[in-house]
Amino acid sequence: ASGTVQFGFTNTYARLPMRFYARVNPTHVAKPRLIKVNVALAEHLGIDPQQLASEEGVAILAGNRVADGSEPLAIAYAGHQFGHFVPQLGDGRANLLGEVKGYDIQLKGSGPTPFSRRGDGRAALGPVLREYVLSEAMAALGVPTTRALAAVTTGEQVFREAALPGAVFTRVAASHLRVGTFQYFAALGDTEGLSKLADYAIARHYPEVVGTKKPYRGLLDGVIARHAALVAQWMLLGFIHGVMNTDNTSISGETLDYGPCAFMEAYEPRKVFSSIDRQGRYAYSNQPHAAHWNLTRLAEAMLPILAQEEGSDEGALASANDALSTFEAKYEGARNAGLRSKIGLAAEREGDDRLTEDLLERMAANHADFTLTFRRLADNQGPRELFADPAAYDEWAIAWEKRLEFETVSAEDRRAAMRQVNPAFIPRNHRVEEMIDFAVERGDFQPFEQLLAVVTQPYEDQVGRERYSTPARPEERVLQTFC
Ligand code: AMP
Ligand code: MG
Ligand code: MG
Repeated sequence: ASGTVQFGFTNTYARLPMRFYARVNPTHVAKPRLIKVNVALAEHLGIDPQQLASEEGVAILAGNRVADGSEPLAIAYAGHQFGHFVPQLGDGRANLLGEVKGYDIQLKGSGPTPFSRRGDGRAALGPVLREYVLSEAMAALGVPTTRALAAVTTGEQVFREAALPGAVFTRVAASHLRVGTFQYFAALGDTEGLSKLADYAIARHYPEVVGTKKPYRGLLDGVIARHAALVAQWMLLGFIHGVMNTDNTSISGETLDYGPCAFMEAYEPRKVFSSIDRQGRYAYSNQPHAAHWNLTRLAEAMLPILAQEEGSDEGALASANDALSTFEAKYEGARNAGLRSKIGLAAEREGDDRLTEDLLERMAANHADFTLTFRRLADNQGPRELFADPAAYDEWAIAWEKRLEFETVSAEDRRAAMRQVNPAFIPRNHRVEEMIDFAVERGDFQPFEQLLAVVTQPYEDQVGRERYSTPARPEERVLQTFC
């Protein structure tokens, strides 16, 4: 039967060769109930939010009904997980419903697929709410990211260490192409598949390289540039992705797959939250290195098609290495410029990098809260009481004041600019856990609504919401996150 909920789907992925995916519909669930529709995002996509929240809309969001024009499928991909290559991963619990205005609409937790391996195809409520809040916070912070369109509960239990309420998350992404998608075809020796995939990625994400002499090299350059900028943004916000596997490294340059991710509180370069990251492979300070490693895997996978452009294997290798060699300077440039902005420097002078590194070292030695230290630099009193030894801050502030004398921007304008790059609110881990506990244990989604409202206006002062900007007390601290 034809429905009233209109998405306006196109199905460009479904038009790719059949070996790119498996056609599979979401699996029916017992009792779908809406948690949330992202009204602004729905409107941006031209989808009527009221229709989405209707009974028919919720049935679609739960996977109980296939929307008009949708051709659900699970995408095939491979990936390096913690350094180990797995030739076939794929969407084991997700269905791509189609594209709307060029964006993928994907259900996550929507039942088993041919790629599920031993998994149940399902998602628990807690991780769904975490992804909702964290991805919307990142979007509001100005970081390229997948978005949250909706979340529903299923009325069914999922079994992890315990029985948990089940949920389905609706994710919006520029696309779900990953480094692992390229690795999938490379591992099969399917060069034709690789070039079809690269052409598709270029058309969707890097149209500026169409018609250039070396579009595949242009694609590689583009992905490298976007990830250098992306990881710099993560570092400047204290964000730790947690699972930077190549299957979670997007070709569009968006933050993808919110699992055991977290924002740091006290600044600690080696910080790890994820319970599964036992070696600290994806520690905060390792993220630029991990990104470069992942991009190297992309370049490697692309060698057969780079060889077509270069005319030889040697040429392909030289081209790949040349592209990869630009990462460090791009990353360092973005990070250092970002750090200068965070301490209010509009101009660039010799010694600025030493000044920002000195602050970071003092923050680490004094367990200073990363977010609040930078936010309070714009206040008159400064962040001194966030430092175990406030004198460590005072010493740095003398050098900072001296440096500020060379600035031509007024103090007032400087403060305003600093407040636009230093958020007051991030999703603090103890508030995220609290929000999940209320939802899972009591079916109370008020804390979810409140936290979401706060973290989607991260640069506002939001007087009266100090409980969300204050670091966790020792007994409130979240030490580990789980997927
Ligand atoms: P992730 O760690 O979330 O990046 O997922 C890695 C791989 O495991 C992907 O292929 C997922 O589709 C798959 N996967 C994760 N959880 C499940 C699940 N509950 N059921 C089936 N597949 C899953
Ligand atoms: Mg993943
Ligand atoms: Mg995941």
